[in-house]
Parts: sequence; C-alpha cells; structure tokens
Amino acid sequence: MTEAEEIFMAHRPLFCEVCEDGKMYYDGNGIYHCGSCGAEALDDYGKIRRFLEEHGPDSAVAVARETGVDLGIVSMFLKDGRIEIPNESSMFIKCRRCGCSLRYGRYCRECTVEMAGGLSSAFRADMGERPDPTKNRNRRKGMQYWGV
Ligand SMILES: [Zn+2]
Ligand SMILES: [Zn+2]
Repeated sequence: MTEAEEIFMAHRPLFCEVCEDGKMYYDGNGIYHCGSCGAEALDDYGKIRRFLEEHGPDSAVAVARETGVDLGIVSMFLKDGRIEIPNESSMFIKCRRCGCSLRYGRYCRECTVEMAGGLSSAFRADMGERPDPTKNRNRRKGMQYWGV
C-alpha cells in the first residue's frame, strides 16, 4: 500500500461521530451512513467528490486546500482517473525538481526518468502528468464513478 492509500484507509469513517456507537455502512461514492442514527459521513474520496460536484472542476492544490484532504490522496485519485482536474485549470502542482506544472504527482516525467535512470524504479509512484490544454475538451467533466 502506498502512503496515500494508508492515510486514506485510516481516514475512513468506521464508527458514527454523532451517536458515537453506530456502525457505518458504505453507500458508494465515498458516502457512509450510520446504522443506528442515520447520520452521514464522508471519507476523503467522498469529500473530494462532493467538493467538485458543488464547485465544479478545480486544481488538485485547491481541492486539497478546500477539503482538508491530503494532497497526496487527491493526487492518488487523479492518477487513478477516479477524479479529474481539467487541463485548462489555472493552478497546478509544481514538479519538485524542475518546477514545471503538473496535474498530479510530485515529479514530471522527465525528472522521474533522470532521477530513476528509467521508469521501472520506485520514483515512478511520484510521477505526474503535465497539463495539456489540447486534451480533455471532449472528455467527461468531473469524475468517474468509483466502485469499491
Ligand atoms: Zn449514529
Ligand atoms: Zn520536472
């Protein structure tokens, strides 16, 4: 499991914070409800998803800031294609090595290759993708359904 996955798993609402003893049931799309009092709770994916539903597409940095979800987790869902940040976005993550714009990840492809001497090493997990304004135009907006 990656660090982001571990954080995500640790953040899942397993017990109700409202009645404090209810067991939480998963409804899908990151939404849970309490079996005792019916209170709703969101995991990190649900928070990201709800934020994008209410505010429209935004950058990973903005999503992380507004939802309080760890940027690594936001990046993880982007990378998996579970959520999408538009190529037209004005805010991007910066490559930690060369500073170029990335839609997700920590390093751009070029830096990843240089640092790792190839794409097969551990650095690959941190590799992001640069925004490409020519793409995304005809793609679905928002995010894809994520079935757990
Ligand atoms: Zn409850
Ligand atoms: Zn770079």
